[in-house]
Amino acid sequence: MLIDVHGHIGRVVPDRREFIDADNLIAKMDVWGIDITFVLPLSEHPEGAYMECDTDDVIAACSKYPDRLIPFCLIDHRFGNHKNMDFSYLLDEYTARGCIGFGEFLPKADFDDPLCINLYRQVGKYGLPIIFDMQDRPEGYGLRDDYGLPKLERALKLCPDTVFVGHGPTFWAEISAHVPENMRSGYPKGSIQPGGAVSRLMREYPNLWADLSAGSGYNALTRDPSFGIEFLDEFQDKLMFGTDSCLRSDVKKVYPNVDFIRRIEEEKKISKDAVEKIKWKNAVELFKLKITD
Ligand SMILES: [Zn+2]
Repeated sequence: MLIDVHGHIGRVVPDRREFIDADNLIAKMDVWGIDITFVLPLSEHPEGAYMECDTDDVIAACSKYPDRLIPFCLIDHRFGNHKNMDFSYLLDEYTARGCIGFGEFLPKADFDDPLCINLYRQVGKYGLPIIFDMQDRPEGYGLRDDYGLPKLERALKLCPDTVFVGHGPTFWAEISAHVPENMRSGYPKGSIQPGGAVSRLMREYPNLWADLSAGSGYNALTRDPSFGIEFLDEFQDKLMFGTDSCLRSDVKKVYPNVDFIRRIEEEKKISKDAVEKIKWKNAVELFKLKITD
């Protein structure tokens, strides 16, 4: 069993001819050996509109393959624009329609913006884990934080009943105690200096998990192979496989995150039990899926 906790459908801008629908996503999953994909909307955020797909689109697409595609929902924290905005009518509806998680949350906002904290708390009350993206570029999308991720830590403290699933270049750059300034939104190479914010926060806060998706997750776990193995072993109860594949044409290549998890399985550097947790069991547990292998 392999579960991708981070999949997308939608029309990709600016080349709007690139369009992934449920059928295209299933075709990719079949080629890559993925049984179930969680599908994450993006375009509730203006910053996420590079891929046109909102919660309604995701729910409709997933209803075509209910055994294999599972919907997430998304709300922009600026909706209503005050720090006591009540989102329960939306969360009631989305959970009733089968959404099991929240994200991909990627506004260009401070991680601990009061409007975000209000939303995180309400999402947590509904038992929906939040997959977020963190970036550091002046343009574009993604939550913002300082070196050492103090804003993420503040949110983890203020929202103990909300599970956050880390993802994105800035989150993963902070796996190392040394974060090169010009690479905080890139793919830093070379050895990882122990003592990074990601390991510290994952040790200290039960409500911080991470997915292994995208170039950023792949880079973090492969740039220093022995550190990567130790990290997978230590956090085997809080890590989940994911791809973050956004293009229909990805089907033509060996997707790096898929290749990585297969290599980890073959090389047996972590236990079979740990591999199974990362491949699917942690996702089943965190998202309370009703499936068995
Ligand atoms: Zn994504």
